[in-house]
Formats: sequence, structure tokens, C-alpha cells
Amino acid sequence: MVPLKALGGTSDIFPEESSRWQSIEKTAREILTLYGYQEIRTPLIEEAAVFTSSLGDAAEIVTKQMYLFQDRGGRSVALRPEGTACVVRAFIERGLDKTGGLTRFYYLGPMFRAERPQAGRRRQFHQIGVEVFGSASPYQDAEVILLLTRLLKGWGLEGFQLNLNSIGCKEDRTKILHKIREALSSWQAELCPDCKGRLGNNPLRILDCKEPGCQKVSAGIDLFEMVCESCRRHFDSVAEALKGLHLPFERDPHLVRGLDYYTRTAFEVIHPGLGAQNALGGGGRYDELVERMGGASVPAVGFAIGLERVLMAASGSGPTGEERRQAPQVFVASVSPAQIPEALALAEELRGQGVRAFVNLEERPLKRQLEQASKSVPSGFALILGEDEIAQGVVTVRAMKTGQQEQLNRSELLGKILRK
Ligand code: AMP
Repeated sequence: MVPLKALGGTSDIFPEESSRWQSIEKTAREILTLYGYQEIRTPLIEEAAVFTSSLGDAAEIVTKQMYLFQDRGGRSVALRPEGTACVVRAFIERGLDKTGGLTRFYYLGPMFRAERPQAGRRRQFHQIGVEVFGSASPYQDAEVILLLTRLLKGWGLEGFQLNLNSIGCKEDRTKILHKIREALSSWQAELCPDCKGRLGNNPLRILDCKEPGCQKVSAGIDLFEMVCESCRRHFDSVAEALKGLHLPFERDPHLVRGLDYYTRTAFEVIHPGLGAQNALGGGGRYDELVERMGGASVPAVGFAIGLERVLMAASGSGPTGEERRQAPQVFVASVSPAQIPEALALAEELRGQGVRAFVNLEERPLKRQLEQASKSVPSGFALILGEDEIAQGVVTVRAMKTGQQEQLNRSELLGKILRK
């Protein structure tokens, strides 16, 4: 049989990488908890309507990228392409839209989009995201943006850039779409084939198209000039708060974020080191979405960060403290196979005390075991058990870095390892 391979755009994460993932996730959970967020885990698979009703029929995530299929009962289901719609579905289903107050959720996990795989674009990728329900305050937007940058800094990232825009409220939307159509309809011939279609069903997206022709004709359009007075004041308060927090940002008049559900504030963080797919994460306010998905009218704001891109941007930074702490500390070797059961018991006893331990379980000479130990615990200890050691209740301890050996009582052993 031809060996099977992972599907294009999906990857296995092997231990040398998964320790970096764990470290990122641990830091994120600590920071999110500090800001008062609690984890929500929603299913990876949802009724397709969860996404079609929320993201908009014209959103490319829905039209081109959603893994959509009929299940055995003939229902139309989708692998989740993003987290917000799922969290809103759960929020409403639980009745939280009726309880009032502030709800802060975070989520972490895989998302699926059928895109052409390339660097920074996977078909299965991972996001950490947050959603805050129940506040319309511009300062809530600022705090969410602060949290996004706090996470990036907590992961050791520097040199990222925050872009901010206002895309207006529901009332502004019709007017804005009309104005964009009006401004661009005489330039149709200059637009790329995708944007020709967008002119009809999704004109906002033309503003962030990367094709030079589309950029040229839309260059003069500034969304900020089209939003209402109240949306402008909201934006100004967000901007003011960010300045007070010493968070530098740029106003990007073409930042639209592609999905129907955003209102008012939209933001994105890019990292210049990432190449063409340079967005680390983004988000915005979505004051209409809960109601649109069948709940009460609840304002909300959130963001999602792509973890593959975080890891790409952070590559080159050395092992984190967490990774070092997770490295095994001892390798228990036995002089002859007869001592293997005792070696196994010693390793187990040490693990019970919080020491990370490997143990040799194979019939092989001590020399080979020590070679193995120098690979697996290069800065730790080999603990050698022979007939004599067992008879005297001691262990021969070899520091792998220096090769120095000493005999210690079992009772002294733990102190020695932990001091290290
Ligand atoms: P979005 O939901 O499209 O705004 O995406 C939020 C973040 O998720 C982006 O800024 C990326 O970091 C990440 N992301 C989105 N799509 C992909 C993908 N196909 N592969 C890897 N990361 C992605």
C-alpha cells in the first residue's frame, strides 16, 4: 500500500513543536484569566446555518472556504471556519442574551477553511479568540485591543503594528455600500474579476483587495468620512483610550475585515516579518450579530489570533522557560537486566515527587544506556542501579554534563536533583 499522508494544508504537530504550542497556550490562559475571561469550548462541527446566517452569504469564508457537507441525516453541516458565530450560537442557546451583565469568553482550537495552502494559510489552523458580550462602551473595545497586544507581548513578539478603522453602524451600512458602488461603478474595467463580482454583492471587500488595479481605483475612498457622527465619536474614544495606554496604532481607512457582522470598530495586527500573509490577528465590534442570530439585542466585541502565524513570527526565539522546565531531568539505568524492575520503581517514585524521569527498559549494556542518557538528559543526571547499589540502598548519580559520579543514599537523592 502507498503510505498515507496528511491532507494538504493540514499538519501533524510533533513533540519538538507541541511543547511550543503548550507554552503559548499556557501563557495565553494565564493572561486571559488575569483579564477575567473564562474558556468556552464549542463543537468543531455546526449546522451550516450558524455560519451562513452570521457571516453573510457573500462572505468568502462562506462562498469559497467553508467545508460544507450533508451528514447521514441529510442535514447541512460545516466544519467551523471561525469561532465567533459558534460562541454566539452557544451564548443564545444558553439564554445568556437574556440575563444582562457582562460575559467574557475565550476559546482556543482548530478552525477549517478550504483555501489554497501556502505559507501562513492552512486548511486546518488554530486560533485563540475572545468575545465580550454586554458592553457597547468604546473603552471595552480599547481593553480588548489592549488584551490582544498583551497576549502578543506575552509570547515574546515585538515589532507588530496595530491598524484601526471604523466601518460604521447598521444604519450607515446601506449608505456606505451605495457610496462605494457609486464611486467605483465607472471604474469596473479596472477591477480584478473577483472585485467585479464584489461590486454587486460585497463592495466593502474591494477596499482591502490586494490587486494593484483595485487598490488604485479605491485609493480615494475613506470609510471614516462615511460613518455617522455617533460612530465617529465612538472611534475617537477608542483612539483616545489607546493613546492613554501608550498603544501606538494607525488608522487604516480600508480595513474592513471581510465579514458582514462587524459594526463600528475594526482592527487588525500585522507583523512585517510574516510575508504576504502578515495578519497575526484581528477583530472588531459586532453589535448586531446576537440579534441577527435570533437572540436579544446585545452589543459585543472580540478578536481572533492565528497561532500558526504567532509561532512563525516567534520562530528564532529560543526555548521558553516552560520548555526548559518540561525537559526530563533523570535517566534511570541498570547495570544488568535484573535491576530493571527496581529501576522502574525508582523512576516511578521520583515522578511522584515531581521529577521528570526516563527509565531504561531494554536489555542493553550500561555504556549504551549512558549514551542514551546523554542525549535525553544532557544537563540532568543518570541514576545507575547495580546489584551493589540495591544491596546498600544507594544510587550512583552521574552528572551528564561533567561526567562526575557520586553515590548517594536514596534519601539524599531527591534533594540533589531538585537543587539542580
Ligand atoms: P480571520 O478570522 O480571517 O480574521 O483570521 C484571524 C487570524 O487567523 C488571522 O489574522 C490569521 O492569523 C489566522 N488565519 C486566518 N486564516 C488562516 C489560515 N487559513 N491559515 C492560518 N492562519 C489563518
